[in-house]
Amino acid sequence: MKLVVGHMYPDLLNLYGDIGNIVALKKRCEWRKIEIEIKPITLDYTEEFTDIDLLFLGGGSDREQKIVSDDLKNKKGKNLKTAIEDGLTVLAICGGYQLLGEYYQTLAGSKLEGLGILKAWTIAGNRRLIGNIVIETNIADKNFKMVGFENHSGKTFLEKIEPLGKVIIGNGNNGEDKTEGCIYKNVYGTYLHGPVLPKNPEFADILIETALKRKYGKVELTPLDDSLEQQAKQSLIERFVKK
Ligand code: GLN
Repeated sequence: MKLVVGHMYPDLLNLYGDIGNIVALKKRCEWRKIEIEIKPITLDYTEEFTDIDLLFLGGGSDREQKIVSDDLKNKKGKNLKTAIEDGLTVLAICGGYQLLGEYYQTLAGSKLEGLGILKAWTIAGNRRLIGNIVIETNIADKNFKMVGFENHSGKTFLEKIEPLGKVIIGNGNNGEDKTEGCIYKNVYGTYLHGPVLPKNPEFADILIETALKRKYGKVELTPLDDSLEQQAKQSLIERFVKK
């Protein structure tokens, strides 16, 4: 089996350790003897997304988001939309997540157009939403907790799409409605930096499995020894969630 990971704009979208998500995907595949290729998708990329199994977009500042928003107005954006509607597995963090929605309005009031795949929009607020975050989601077991770190001014509001989870500690999508991230088809949008995948290895495996299943049909991932990761995660949860 081989997993091809498309890393979108590695030079532009890479905040708060987001590159660690790529490292986690790579290691978790290698440990299982699954071949993995990381394909950088930069501004000059002109191919379609048909040979990509899992796509990753990290976060970025407003300046980088503007460059990416402009780039996605060309054929690349159209190709990406087609691939996502066809079931491409995607992890999009913060700025990358915002760009898959309808638009991101900066504090100065300019509107950066998104791809409009996610029925969600984002408006920058005066207060930055910064800190550790714990959410509860049903993507693995029921009430499965994920931990991360968020740092954004954008407040995202969902319309007719499912959130990824419910905020237990922190702000999530907008600091108001307790929703965090979103799920649409095989797209996972989230504000969890950290990076999110090494902190939540189950989430990494969900992405790997979803992507491989789409390509090969039935896939069962060999379990890995995640005891250290689980210990770290539990101690974070205990520290942040006051009992
Ligand atoms: N510019 C966006 C915001 O502040 C994204 C930041 C990020 O990716 N961390 O909302």
